[in-house]
Amino acid sequence: MRSDTKPITSHLTSRRSALVWFRDDLRLGDNPTLTAALTSGLPVTALYIFDDATPGPRALGAASRWWLAQSLKSLAADCTKIGLPFAVRRGSAKTMVAEAAEEAGAEAAFWSRRYSADLSNIDAAVEEELSAKGVRVESFNASLLREPWEVKAKTGGPLKVFSPYWRAANTMGEPAAPLPRPKKADVIAGPTLGGVEIEALGLEPTTPDWAGSLREVWTPGETGAVEAVERFLEEGLKGYAENRDRPDMEATSRMSPRLRFGEVSPRQLWHAVERAKEEGMATSRDVEKFRTELGWREFSYHLLHHFPDLSTRNFQERFDAFPWSPPKPEHRRAWRKGLTGYPIVDAGMRQLWTTGWLHNRVRMIVASFLIKDLLIDWRDGEDWFWDTLVDADHANNAASWQWVAGSGADAAPYFRVFNPTLQGQKFDPNGDYVRAFVPELSKLPAKWIHMPWEAPGEVMRAAGVTLGKTYPEPIVDHYVARDRALAAFAKLKAAS
Ligand code: FAD
Repeated sequence: MRSDTKPITSHLTSRRSALVWFRDDLRLGDNPTLTAALTSGLPVTALYIFDDATPGPRALGAASRWWLAQSLKSLAADCTKIGLPFAVRRGSAKTMVAEAAEEAGAEAAFWSRRYSADLSNIDAAVEEELSAKGVRVESFNASLLREPWEVKAKTGGPLKVFSPYWRAANTMGEPAAPLPRPKKADVIAGPTLGGVEIEALGLEPTTPDWAGSLREVWTPGETGAVEAVERFLEEGLKGYAENRDRPDMEATSRMSPRLRFGEVSPRQLWHAVERAKEEGMATSRDVEKFRTELGWREFSYHLLHHFPDLSTRNFQERFDAFPWSPPKPEHRRAWRKGLTGYPIVDAGMRQLWTTGWLHNRVRMIVASFLIKDLLIDWRDGEDWFWDTLVDADHANNAASWQWVAGSGADAAPYFRVFNPTLQGQKFDPNGDYVRAFVPELSKLPAKWIHMPWEAPGEVMRAAGVTLGKTYPEPIVDHYVARDRALAAFAKLKAAS
């Protein structure tokens, strides 16, 4: 049952509490689900379930698992601070939520909606189970500016092109102001449930513990998110419109994992950037551009809602006939490890491996390289990103890979092939981004850093670079590969 607008009142006397089931909304602030439970007048008990038992949903990737563990620890600590009992359990959501509701004596269960079909199917099954036991279910939108089904074409159907989508979304008025973060005085504590330690979920790597570099870069959890938002408003938002394509600058918000796990809400960000503008910390153009990027996230969810197989099937069916190469293991390995011989591609893939995050411009470059230069199916790359990104997202990852492949809605045309050398020169003009992640090239001057194979012998010697020894030769010739990709596309066009 959807009920954002319906006041919640309790008429039952035999049951006594409200159960809040946290999922991808791991925060207390601007959480409509939690606020509704707390204002219901019922004592409240909170729960998180790590469900690796229900068959169907895609298992979280390794980097996301690490993030989730940290974010849960942070949420647990925050719940304790406001006196809200919080338990973590592991198992099938359908069984676990019903059991927890029974134990807590819950007359109502509250949760935030999820939008990928496999997860919303689970939610529907849980709702059925609870309803059969007389437990009321209330669900809310805690992660999008607009519900994916609310924005419609004039004909009532889905919008497949971003600009009209975003125009239509913007005619629906300003997103509501964020809700305040609940305080201790707002909580009537419900029963404390037994649960498992977060460490016992086995979400974090042990042998080897590869997460050291993630720990250095990130502080997951709502407190870390609030600090990161403030830092972005003070240091990153001004100039965002101009600099957001520059991987060598700290010019974007890095909010993606926070949005993915719901440590921050899009409407908090929507309103925060306006506040920053009023305080003179950004221009209207910066604010507009940033909000448009939030719009791309909304659009991805709109697509996922209308096309649930977005991560596995070509949005444009004609791409089903695309003649992908069987992936050459050595090419795939070189791409994953950042050893392709193209410096901007290698810097990107190493940034991804060490930090779990990658700049948007570089995501496009490395994706184009895999799909078009190596002719490897976009789903192969989508899968690697799913495993290695801390922000791996059901909607954004699939929609973006299909965008680069040309198989998606409102996608880049397949014939637009990113030239990794020119992209590097344009968006990392001094080579600082490459130097940060490909240290073996750090002594090369800016002029040659994006094309070491062209550098004169004495420059290479002075920089200590020997191709094929200290740094790889390019694994493909970009111009040959580009022609091969265009020929494959021409075949597809002829066939469709
Ligand atoms: P900012 O520029 O600060 O933007 C603010 C927010 O807007 C982001 O956090 C994100 O939620 C949203 N956003 C920005 N750009 C896009 C975009 N192009 N599409 C959709 N939403 C966007 N984003 C993910 O969140 N998860 C993914 O798994 C993911 N996979 C991608 C795969 C490929 C091949 C490509 C090309 C892009 C992918 N993106 C993904 C989109 C985008 O690259 C990231 O959202 C962005 O780089 C995150 O950095 P940021 O938070 O600093 O972005």
